[in-house]
Amino acid sequence: MSHAWNRVQRGSFLIVGPLGALACVLALVTQWNSMDSLDRWALPALASVLLGLSLLLAVRRITVATANVSAFAATTGYFLLALGHQFIWFVPTYHMLSENTYWFSVLYATAFIAFRNHHAFRICAVIFGLSCAICGFNLWHLNQSGLLNYRMLAATIQFLLSSAVLVLAQYAVGRLRHQLDQVKLAAYLDALTGLPNRRYAQHLMERMIKHHQAFSLVMLDLDHFKSVNDTFGHQAGDLVLRETGRIISRHLSGTQLMARWGGEEFLLILPGLRKQESKQLADQARLELCGYIFDEVGQLSASFGVAEWIAGEALDVTMNRADTALYEAKRQGRNGVRVAMDDGRLTRMDLPASELPGPPVVLAAPSQMSKGADYFLEQIQSD
Ligand code: GH3
Ligand code: MG
Ligand code: MG
Repeated sequence: MSHAWNRVQRGSFLIVGPLGALACVLALVTQWNSMDSLDRWALPALASVLLGLSLLLAVRRITVATANVSAFAATTGYFLLALGHQFIWFVPTYHMLSENTYWFSVLYATAFIAFRNHHAFRICAVIFGLSCAICGFNLWHLNQSGLLNYRMLAATIQFLLSSAVLVLAQYAVGRLRHQLDQVKLAAYLDALTGLPNRRYAQHLMERMIKHHQAFSLVMLDLDHFKSVNDTFGHQAGDLVLRETGRIISRHLSGTQLMARWGGEEFLLILPGLRKQESKQLADQARLELCGYIFDEVGQLSASFGVAEWIAGEALDVTMNRADTALYEAKRQGRNGVRVAMDDGRLTRMDLPASELPGPPVVLAAPSQMSKGADYFLEQIQSD
């Protein structure tokens, strides 16, 4: 579960939990005299559970998942008890089901909000199965006593049928939503490196510009990469591209993101960073990359161009500055970082290539994903 979704769920529980408890108390206070005997003890019990869970969640003694499951179980228990209980007096008297049966639709809807689709479906199937058993048993019992009539039977069948339709419809919508997430992920992911692709990078930068969020860009391009393919084959080249993605992503944190821009070109999107800070990050990444020994291929380097977005300017203009800075890094001997000044001039602030590389670097386990990549997956799901 993403952190953002976790926060939303926690906040929602801390509002809905006490409100639910308050609703129970209000029902008790206003309808005590006409109240069903079950509600006189079940409503205070439910209110205490909801309030207790909210308190425990507020002081972080339980997780949101525990609070959700417990509250859901307590509420479901109450509604199932109430469903059975109404057949004792309400149904034989009024020949219909009581109003609190309507709340089953809220129960089913909540299951699909609080739990993953297939879990929600199983939970709803259990609740539906229990509802069928409770209704079936009580109708049979009424029939045995000669109290069953057509209206009671029709009301119960309609309740069960509408529940089944609701659960199936929600399950189908959940599956479609999941498939949409998968398609979005595929559309925004580079299949070779597992990094976000150019389409996603563009989408992200356009969105940042729309919301006036400052950022810097680092465009990087592997040096003499064609000769890697020519000498060691295309597969070795592919491996280098994948490793490059991993090595450089490790320098990113939080909302920073590395995308494959195309071929052997990558783009770092660094929200909130000024060009000098981005230059430092690029320098560190460059040092690590050129000190790394690629399997079979050996040492490689990359050239970097840094540019900062100026408020109000179009994305193309910033991209062009980063591109020009990268071109300049290539022109001045490669394995370097060039920073584009806001007026388009370039600075030369890094070490000459002859003072490089640094010591060889041991790459972390392949499963170690950068925070940037985690953030990317979260963003796609919430987009
Ligand atoms: P420079 O230092 O000027 O950047 O030289 P370069 O050789 O890196 O640049 P050039 O543009 O001449 O060659 C880029 C090469 O990258 C050519 C292309 O075959 C290779 N390439 C692009 N995409 C892929 C890929 O997905 N896998 C592999 N293995 N190679 C790729
Ligand atoms: Mg290149
Ligand atoms: Mg290139």
